[in-house]
Amino acid sequence: MLSKGIKTAIRDYYTTNFNLKELEQVISFEHFENREFGFVPPSGRFFRNLSFESPNALKDYLADRTPLHAYIGALYDAPPSREHPIHTLEWKGHELVFDIDLNEYDSVRSHICDCQGANQVCIRCWQLVVLAISIIDETLREDFGLSKITWLFSGRRGVHGWVQDSVGFELGQGQRMSIINYLTVLLGENETARVQDRDSLKYEFRKRVEHGVFDFFLKNARKKDLMSLGFSSSLASNFQKQIEQQDGKIDQNLSMRFNKSLAKINKYDEILRRWVPRIDHKVSIDLRRLLRLPGSIHGKTGKSAQILKPNEIFSFNPENVSSIFPSVPENE
Ligand SMILES: [Zn+2]
Repeated sequence: MLSKGIKTAIRDYYTTNFNLKELEQVISFEHFENREFGFVPPSGRFFRNLSFESPNALKDYLADRTPLHAYIGALYDAPPSREHPIHTLEWKGHELVFDIDLNEYDSVRSHICDCQGANQVCIRCWQLVVLAISIIDETLREDFGLSKITWLFSGRRGVHGWVQDSVGFELGQGQRMSIINYLTVLLGENETARVQDRDSLKYEFRKRVEHGVFDFFLKNARKKDLMSLGFSSSLASNFQKQIEQQDGKIDQNLSMRFNKSLAKINKYDEILRRWVPRIDHKVSIDLRRLLRLPGSIHGKTGKSAQILKPNEIFSFNPENVSSIFPSVPENE
């Protein structure tokens, strides 16, 4: 049962802080009445197939019903409703969306930080999300010619990249799958994932990934991370000392020496396997997928799914986002 304090906080948030102008930066309001929405009410089960005649009607609903989670789906040829559920309507489009979540990195996170369990996040492992954003954002712009890309905090442990270009909106499932395949370097999942061989078709992407990942690794490696690759204790200390001396800027010389040592112990792919971008494929290819409504509150954390301004992405720290929920006694 939701406490009265949480309900009031959600109501206050949607009444005074939820900003429709920001929502419009992420999704087009054209034919708004034909968009599907879904919700998890304060006490109840998830439901979908709902639509609103205007953005203001949506905002009023959020303030009135105080849902724990709010989701937005695709655009159809008529307003979705209980009488006219989405499978009876014609699909008209859905923004191309990329979901990067630390869940996908759980099997390798111990190599960068000491977070325990699925709910933790810290500024060190968050850098994996930042690395993935920088590689994917650049690839979408440079290799696919897309330009209207907005990144949002998911409210918990990840980000969503929304592409608003009309060419992305109309892509079918196969085309979305092709983009995902292009952005994929790992074959398989978790511990057993294998790094794909170099492929000439993805030359630019692969170059960007390798450069980004190795630079990232060198900037962030702790002695134990180096030793976990197979470096001896003294070599690991040596490298770590040099990394610290460079204070976040890795020069080419060090980078070359490191790559040579890595080649000697045959661990080049291991670093890629740990840190290449991991995208939740299902989110990008499912045309009828409901996604967290930009600007809405995440019901588990009380944090809003806010837009990350381009100049904030690299300094953003999810731990610093305050929850709108009042503190809850431990035994509750
Ligand atoms: Zn962490």
